Amino acid sequence: MSRSVLVLNATYEPLSLISVRRALILLLREKAELVEATERMLRSANATFPEPLVIRLTRYVRLPHRTVPPTRTTVMLRDAYTCQYCGATPGRDQLTVDHVVPRSRGGDHTWENLVTACKPCNHRKGNHLPEEVQMHLRRKPYEPTYVALVLLSNPVAAARWEALMGSVLGQAAPASQPVHP
Ligand SMILES: [Zn+2]
Repeated sequence: MSRSVLVLNATYEPLSLISVRRALILLLREKAELVEATERMLRSANATFPEPLVIRLTRYVRLPHRTVPPTRTTVMLRDAYTCQYCGATPGRDQLTVDHVVPRSRGGDHTWENLVTACKPCNHRKGNHLPEEVQMHLRRKPYEPTYVALVLLSNPVAAARWEALMGSVLGQAAPASQPVHP
């Protein structure tokens, strides 16, 4: 039983991934309710349960804010390996991380100033601000939540989450709509 169960907060925000065994304990203690199950049934000595896939805590849990530093890996995960200027998805090796406000012009190494860019876009932008070279961000860069990054790095959990709630990154604006910072 190594498969992960997605745990939602009482408010339906994703919280974490736990083992099926831990999920069953939470359900049996009525600390959580079943949101979605697989087709499989699990049997114990005196009962039968559907195998949980997604559970929701019955009481709201306030978590400390966990921050994740922006790195090449985490910025690309947030941006779904998509160039934030032209929308190209040429694959990780052909992508770079671009400082929206170039470092040489005082730009910070922060989530809000880092985006995934394909090599041609990065080259075209050079040491300019996007508006100076008529380039537009498809989405305003932001700091993703820890859980969003956990989900993005686990495709199975992310797919369940998207089927239930829509975008893993709740803040994501539609890609066709340019957002100006
Ligand atoms: Zn591009």
